[in-house]
Amino acid sequence: VPTGTSTEQSLALAHEAIARCRQIAADTEEPGFTTRTFLSAPMRAVHERLGAWMEHAGMKVSIDHAGNLRGRYPSSSGDGPRLLIGSHLDTVPHAGAFDGVLGVVLGVALIELLAGRRLKLEIEIVGFSEEEGVRFGVPFIGSRALIGEAGAELLARRDVAGVSVADAITAFGLDPARIGEAAQDALGYLEFHIEQGPVLEDRNLPLGVVQAIAGQSRLDVVFEGKANHAGTTPMALRRDALAGAAEWIGAVEREAQAVSGLVATVGRLDASPGAGNVIAGSARASLDVRHAADTARCQSLARILEQAGEIATRRFLNVSWEQRLDQPAVPMDPSMTLLLDHAVAQAGHPVHRMTSGAGHDAMIVARRMPVAMLFVRSPGGISHHPDEAVLAGDVAAALETGMCFLANLEKA
Ligand SMILES: [Zn+2]
Repeated sequence: VPTGTSTEQSLALAHEAIARCRQIAADTEEPGFTTRTFLSAPMRAVHERLGAWMEHAGMKVSIDHAGNLRGRYPSSSGDGPRLLIGSHLDTVPHAGAFDGVLGVVLGVALIELLAGRRLKLEIEIVGFSEEEGVRFGVPFIGSRALIGEAGAELLARRDVAGVSVADAITAFGLDPARIGEAAQDALGYLEFHIEQGPVLEDRNLPLGVVQAIAGQSRLDVVFEGKANHAGTTPMALRRDALAGAAEWIGAVEREAQAVSGLVATVGRLDASPGAGNVIAGSARASLDVRHAADTARCQSLARILEQAGEIATRRFLNVSWEQRLDQPAVPMDPSMTLLLDHAVAQAGHPVHRMTSGAGHDAMIVARRMPVAMLFVRSPGGISHHPDEAVLAGDVAAALETGMCFLANLEKA
């Protein structure tokens, strides 16, 4: 592995990678935007495009029965341990060009940097068919198949048009009965991904080493009071559900500000009956709480709900809640992450460990093998939007880090 990749070479490849991401962004279901859901027609165009680049770099290209694009770069001995490098090829509606796609394109660029040289490791680049959960309301179809957890229940899920996952796989020319063959053991999995947040930019850093993917609690919290006339009901005689919810939202924000690493959000609030001259009889709020440590998340959630109870009691309201999601944090593999730290430093960049507040394929793949993840700065912190961008220098830094990582893994 050439560790001394020249800056000009990696910068040229970074520009090429960015151009490729932009080309792939033109493979879309919606002209003028980038929208690409599970195994839709433009996904076939993406497979053809990436497949040609993979073959040109010396990879054997296939598509598994979950619709994941896979390019295998054989090892010098013909067997030996396999490292997976990948991310997802589907997008949200009206997406940017880099979420997911950058990780796959960077994997291909790393193989191109090897210029035909074989390693002791076999490397497989994986472009997952589905991560965003747009078409079937369930995310991670591709990576779930890779870890052997795409069963009958998943295959039976239907999109809004009534087409099941199994139907979509068949329509793409694949065999849902053989989805189990997508399962793969490997030495480990490395994912490059844009940060999709403002932290690296705020710290003026090109790269971040992901330490854990935050656990999430999602709930619906309902305050109930009494709807009444806004003009005739004196303040002291009201049971205003919306005012109670508002007080509680302030408490949610204070809790998150007080606990290091915690993020807590009320992103939706529905008041009923919802008229300007009627005191709200009920208010339904969403709650999203995330932290890299499950105990911290659960303790904060308990305090937030305790506050809801206190506020409700004081205001003569009832409060109840329903848990929608309780997803534990997923730590990245400590030794692979340490190798990634070293690689970042060797490539000449500051090492910054961080938590991912968003879910990623790495979080699913971690159930089956060691995983590590590298974030690339998101200018403006913008993602899931056409303005999503990357800086060529940052992409070059990721490439150089990737080369150092491969070299370190060969020695390990
Ligand atoms: Zn993504």
